[in-house]
Amino acid sequence: MRVAQIARAGGPFEIVEREIPQPDAGRVRIKVQACGICHSDSAVKEGLWPGLQYPRVPGHEVVGVVDAVGAGVTRWKPGQRVGVGWHGGHCGLCDACRNGDFFGCTVGLQITGISFDGGYAEYMVAPEIAVALVPEDLSPVEAAPLMCAGITTYNALRNSHARPGDLVAVLGLGGLGHLGVQYAVKMGFKTVGIARGADKGPLARKLGAHSYIDSQTQDPAAELQKLGGAKAIIATVTNGDAMSAVQGGLGLNGTFMVIGAVPTMTVSPLFLLSGRRAIKGWYSGTAIDSQDTLAFSVLSGVRSMNEVYPLERVAEAYQRMESGQARFRVVLTTGQ
Ligand SMILES: [Zn+2]
Ligand SMILES: [Zn+2]
Repeated sequence: MRVAQIARAGGPFEIVEREIPQPDAGRVRIKVQACGICHSDSAVKEGLWPGLQYPRVPGHEVVGVVDAVGAGVTRWKPGQRVGVGWHGGHCGLCDACRNGDFFGCTVGLQITGISFDGGYAEYMVAPEIAVALVPEDLSPVEAAPLMCAGITTYNALRNSHARPGDLVAVLGLGGLGHLGVQYAVKMGFKTVGIARGADKGPLARKLGAHSYIDSQTQDPAAELQKLGGAKAIIATVTNGDAMSAVQGGLGLNGTFMVIGAVPTMTVSPLFLLSGRRAIKGWYSGTAIDSQDTLAFSVLSGVRSMNEVYPLERVAEAYQRMESGQARFRVVLTTGQ
């Protein structure tokens, strides 16, 4: 099989031939059809993940078909269409797992494409617990970006405590935000898109947003307060100043959901306590959250806008993602 691997931190992508791996007990081999390129894959490319072992095949927006299963696997069988996201497994026995907080597993937490080889490949092997069923209604290219960008925004929204009819703002209209706006609209929220520049307004409306705030010419916090204050703000941007500028738009009991990984931002404790407001981080979710995301996307018609590249053009595709110019997710295909 062909894989696109990184041989050392900071090294280039290499297309190499490898033996097709056999699935050990409790593992599933997937014939990969499509894999999205996520900004988090830079952790592999640039060596930003402590202890990461090379060579490594990145990729945690994987969609394909079950090809073989290891001993003891009863949940999955060859021929099923499945996907694998960021959450690559957990122990099930530590205190975090026993509380249902699988993402916080302290013993056996695994990340797809970081702890084990991911989906920039013709085949991959994943723990059965990390596998999600993919509905037939979605093509592999449609489903792949939903395995990280989709689940992250969908899950943050449904855990934000906003209820149908509430004012919800999505900060940023990129790979995450263009999905976040669609999900927010379909969940029944009064949805506001916020981005830089008047030219993003038509996009926000095309995605279904009820209104748009241009953060270059308007004060987004003041504009949200004019609308009554947001019950939730989903912050997808990777700029701490942009996040700081929008927090003041939270209404009473509003929650600011941070899903863009910024190192710092400014908060006003007085503003938080005087309105019982909260700032909360959100991580994507587990395999069942992925299934829920895919099912909701089929039900509601939410789709990612994608640029598609064959696996052998991985370096170019990755560069396209890094450029910030892609509209909006970049997806690799294997031709299988
Ligand atoms: Zn990701
Ligand atoms: Zn655990």
